Amino acid sequence: MAGLNLPEICYLLFALLSGLLIGSFLNVVIHRVPLDRSIVFPGSACPSCGARIRAFDNIPLISFILLRGRCRDCDARISIRYPAVELLTGLIFAAIVWKTAPTWVALLEMIFAASMIALVFIDARHQLLPNVITYPTFLFALAASTVRAGWGSPIIYAFDFSLIFTSAQADFPVTRAAITGGVLLAIAVPGFLLIDKLDLILFNKYFEWEEMNEGASTEDRADADRRYDRLIGATMLLGLLCGIAWASSTLLLARDNMAAFENAWDGLIRASIAAFVAGLITWWIRAVYFYVRGFEGMGLGDVKMMAAIGAFLGWQGAFSTLLLGSIAGAIIGGIMAFRNRSGIRTALPLGLFLGAAAIFVLIWMDQGG
Ligand SMILES: [Zn+2]
Repeated sequence: MAGLNLPEICYLLFALLSGLLIGSFLNVVIHRVPLDRSIVFPGSACPSCGARIRAFDNIPLISFILLRGRCRDCDARISIRYPAVELLTGLIFAAIVWKTAPTWVALLEMIFAASMIALVFIDARHQLLPNVITYPTFLFALAASTVRAGWGSPIIYAFDFSLIFTSAQADFPVTRAAITGGVLLAIAVPGFLLIDKLDLILFNKYFEWEEMNEGASTEDRADADRRYDRLIGATMLLGLLCGIAWASSTLLLARDNMAAFENAWDGLIRASIAAFVAGLITWWIRAVYFYVRGFEGMGLGDVKMMAAIGAFLGWQGAFSTLLLGSIAGAIIGGIMAFRNRSGIRTALPLGLFLGAAAIFVLIWMDQGG
């Protein structure tokens, strides 16, 4: 641990505080997304008595301590999960800035980590990895890997003549990269929809989504479905825009910025391959498990989550995540099964372990790897 100077301490503190605030927002996501409720409206309320939570009682971490973990109105216990998520997000954000230095690459990593935290806690509670999180995370991961590879490395910014020289000689296929990359980004989200449909046909499993909402009325269901369709539609449109942005900027700017665009192109291809391989391996495990055991041991959400992890962490990162996550899941699942004596059929939220492993790999992985 090298001595910290004042600016470094400020950056770390700032990351910690941002993490506490984002963690507070993640609590809303974790609570509402599985219930198919809007994360924007209405404001937060006590789950016990329904009283609106006042702004000054909504300060991350501090309010929980001041209120001694109880609702101001009805005295009901507030779940320890709320301050835990806030503190965890704060610490992870600080760790990312510690590792990556305060650059916008760290910002991309924070967004990815935030999405993993949401998935981990939702999976732990509901054994569910919602599409409204996995779809946008995948698109984000693909776009982030492209931009990071092209403009995130400090080498690109260093005033290095030899770099310009070699890149001018390099044979970068501008038109092909523009078209292929644009198509890749544009079809990423519809590709996820295709996986959903294909999986449905192959396994003929439809009930998962229904079970969740047994209590909900038909109108609530229709409302939630509409909101879900809108979100997926918006993500698709965003993917299309990313594709168009990539294609047009490559055609217009690549010839003058060969090195950056060549790296970005490389990043996009690597991310796509890693996502495909990570998703395929996970899906294969799902299929084998399904046929051997005769029930669904691993959800399709895990497959989509691993594709997103592959797109962001690359194939080495995805491989480490899968290995770490499975080992942790097997150990803890084994302990649980032993203690319950109910056999191995206890549903294990694998997404929980994959998400935790992905954050671990993100923080400990070789920089720029
Ligand atoms: Zn209350």
